[in-house]
Amino acid sequence: MKAASVSETAPVPLIATDLKQWAYCRRIPYYRYVMPVAFAPTYPMRRGRNVEEAVAALERRRGLRRYGLDSGERRFGVWLRSEHLGLSGKLDLLIVTRRASFPVDFKDTRGGVRDNHRMQLAAYALLVEEAYRRPVRTGFIYASPTRELMAVPIGERERKAVVQAMAEIRAMIERGMIPEPTAVRARCVACEFRNFCGDIW
Ligand code: SF4
Repeated sequence: MKAASVSETAPVPLIATDLKQWAYCRRIPYYRYVMPVAFAPTYPMRRGRNVEEAVAALERRRGLRRYGLDSGERRFGVWLRSEHLGLSGKLDLLIVTRRASFPVDFKDTRGGVRDNHRMQLAAYALLVEEAYRRPVRTGFIYASPTRELMAVPIGERERKAVVQAMAEIRAMIERGMIPEPTAVRARCVACEFRNFCGDIW
């Protein structure tokens, strides 16, 4: 029997942002992977990128005390990749101490940590643990409009949610069927894909 090649067995490569989008609206990964469409980045998207750069500049001048840490190494814009998970992503900030790692995601958001933020942060946690071989028990969301730093526990539940979501995204890609739209229709108003979701208007 012919042995399976790597390309036959390797999982469909995903990025950490896919996990966030899947939790936000399942159609967004569909538009990315199954029916790629040309879309214009919205103002919130462009602003989000600019804000990340501004926050990184600010964070470089700050200490670690507000993370509850006495010492640690800070790394900005860290590219992470796991062959095993078929997952990659660029993390805004990683703090590495002798005993643990702490992923930090900068968000242009108000109103606390949302499920999709938690999902993306947990995806980074899996990548960081594999790359740095230190446990991740806590990550942080930095909300740039309010300058609020929010600690997010990363436990088994969050890890399992990421693994399950990756399986669901890959199953969706395999089926090639457009998922149901998000039930939260307010999300559609500023969505960069709204022109392609004709069935919801
Ligand atoms: S317009 Fe609404 S349903 Fe369509 S991709 Fe965007 S958030 Fe999802």
